[in-house]
Amino acid sequence: MAAIHTTVASPKKPINLLGLDRNAMAQYFSEIGEKPFRAQQLTKWIHQQGVTDFEQMSNLSKKLRAQLQADAEISLPQVALDKLSADGTRKWVLQLDDGNRIETVFIPESDRGTLCVSSQVGCALDCSFCSTGRQGFNRNLTADEIIAQVWLASQLLEEEKKPGRKITNVVLMGMGEPLLNFDNVVSAVRIMMDDFAYGLSKRRVTVSTAGVIPAMDRIGEILDMRLAVSLHATNDALRDELVPLNKKYPITELMAACRRFLDKQHARSRITFEYVMLDGVNDQPQHARELIRLLKGIPTLMNLIPFNPFPGSGYRTSPMKQIETFSDMLVKAGITTVIRRTRGDDIDAACGQLVGKVEDKSRRERRFAEPRFGMKV
Ligand code: SAH
Repeated sequence: MAAIHTTVASPKKPINLLGLDRNAMAQYFSEIGEKPFRAQQLTKWIHQQGVTDFEQMSNLSKKLRAQLQADAEISLPQVALDKLSADGTRKWVLQLDDGNRIETVFIPESDRGTLCVSSQVGCALDCSFCSTGRQGFNRNLTADEIIAQVWLASQLLEEEKKPGRKITNVVLMGMGEPLLNFDNVVSAVRIMMDDFAYGLSKRRVTVSTAGVIPAMDRIGEILDMRLAVSLHATNDALRDELVPLNKKYPITELMAACRRFLDKQHARSRITFEYVMLDGVNDQPQHARELIRLLKGIPTLMNLIPFNPFPGSGYRTSPMKQIETFSDMLVKAGITTVIRRTRGDDIDAACGQLVGKVEDKSRRERRFAEPRFGMKV
């Protein structure tokens, strides 16, 4: 007997408007026969008014509202955990549709409020001192999952009704390597910078990378935002060990890419470099001297990050005196240097402590066993 195949017409999955930047939104409206200005209206409703129910969008016709109700949605991840640190840092663990969990952190300072946003579920880069890396990697976040973090944090901070709890800056320094999730990160950054959405200026959005050189060049062509580079070592032997991506994109090439990035637009006055301070590993005067040589001619903001320990890391934090000596050497050489204060470590919200819940697809254990694990990027 012949097998009978029945095909049931599955209803079309509604499109999530949350992650559409202005162009994509305009495209969507043109496809459904609406005028491009609808994109601005929707963007404002979603990101400025925080409205997710089409029925409340009073300047849209009844007919359009009904159509959106049928074809589209504004859908957000669930807040699985919401923690407040003694120092005012607030961390959210967000549960995604597929059960994975990511983390987002708000860090208040006297003159700003910085939101640290994740770009991937886990991370494939496997930096030796980072606990996100230990979780393995599952997938890229979609543009809506990235911007949802800003949407949710804005709403939930507003509910606090306290002064100084507003997002003024966004850094893509949460879980993941943003430049390995290029298109979705670009869309989300465009929404962050859109005047009809969050209206953040180019100085207030920072994309952080471990040094994916081709993507640094590409993002420099199409977006004007700040770039942070996680350097952590001053020679290839050590950087290969700390940031395995260095085997593919070594230091000399990385520094050349930084120069190219700065050359593209004057507005990019400088690059932020991140340098984690590991006791006896990369924190000696000889490293400071090498660093000064490397950074010659690159306008720099140097962020020295005291290592945030986690069980089994095998590293210790450099003593504060050592960090200060290191910092003094850089400052004397004319490099603007900041020792980053550890924030939110009582709620595991500090750099490198974001782990979420990652269903590891990268078979990290097996790859660890391979003689020389080469990154595929
Ligand atoms: N993958 C991107 C974005 C992550 S940003 C990048 O590498 O830039 C997170 C920052 O925290 C990076 O500079 C990372 O190197 C740093 N970091 C990771 N683990 C850390 C730890 N245990 N202590 C301090 N900083 C850490």
